[in-house]
Amino acid sequence: MAWTERQRAMLEEMGVRLWLPPESDIRPPSVAPAQPRAERMPVAPAVASPPHGDRPAGVDTMDWPALREAVVNCSACKLCQGRRQTVFGVGHLQAHWMVVGEAPGEQEDRQGEPFVGKSGQLLDNMLRAIGLTRAEAEPAQQVYIANTIKCRPPGNRNPEPEELAQCEPFLIRQVELVQPKIILAMGRFAVQSLLRSTEPIGRLRGRVHRYQGVPLIVTYHPAYLLRNLEDKARAWDDLCLAMQTLKEGGPK
Ligand code: URA
Repeated sequence: MAWTERQRAMLEEMGVRLWLPPESDIRPPSVAPAQPRAERMPVAPAVASPPHGDRPAGVDTMDWPALREAVVNCSACKLCQGRRQTVFGVGHLQAHWMVVGEAPGEQEDRQGEPFVGKSGQLLDNMLRAIGLTRAEAEPAQQVYIANTIKCRPPGNRNPEPEELAQCEPFLIRQVELVQPKIILAMGRFAVQSLLRSTEPIGRLRGRVHRYQGVPLIVTYHPAYLLRNLEDKARAWDDLCLAMQTLKEGGPK
């Protein structure tokens, strides 16, 4: 099938134009136009940092409002002391696609939304290239985006195992509530913590894993891709594998 000029332009922005086959079996669905920010899910307001010590009980049975509130009030690890606000997640609550990143950076900590900095722009381009969006759309097109860690590590340092462990119940509950058909895990820390693996991304990508029973595809973090342009072609392959897996209904 022929790719539209718009799709070519978006893929070019991702840096994958050279690798796009002239005829492809994978047809990105059309996407509804982006909606203004105000129509998206509300962002949790900033709260004063509590002392470090508690995560509310019963996360595994919480509904969306209770879960959001539990994250806002969480003080289970020391990251609560340096955050401006928690970064819960955004997107369609029944999204077919769930994107899982690592942890909020400075812009995310300021704005309360995942992936709003430079890497977020690349993520949006990658999503757009396969017909997906974070803006309001049908559940097949509008993704849900969350991080493994809901608070910014100081100076954007790597999350510590204890912090990942304390925060994971929130992500597990988000996955249970969204019930995505596919998870795209981005970056070494997200991938290794979700898959309980110490293998590098290069060894984990290219096959279908599972997280909480959901097919999971491993890919590079957009921030890494901004520094390593040569791996954008591999990231495109990962997106194609995710689309194919979704089409086929996951691994047999
Ligand atoms: N990197 C991530 O992994 N998540 C964000 O929200 C921002 C940058």
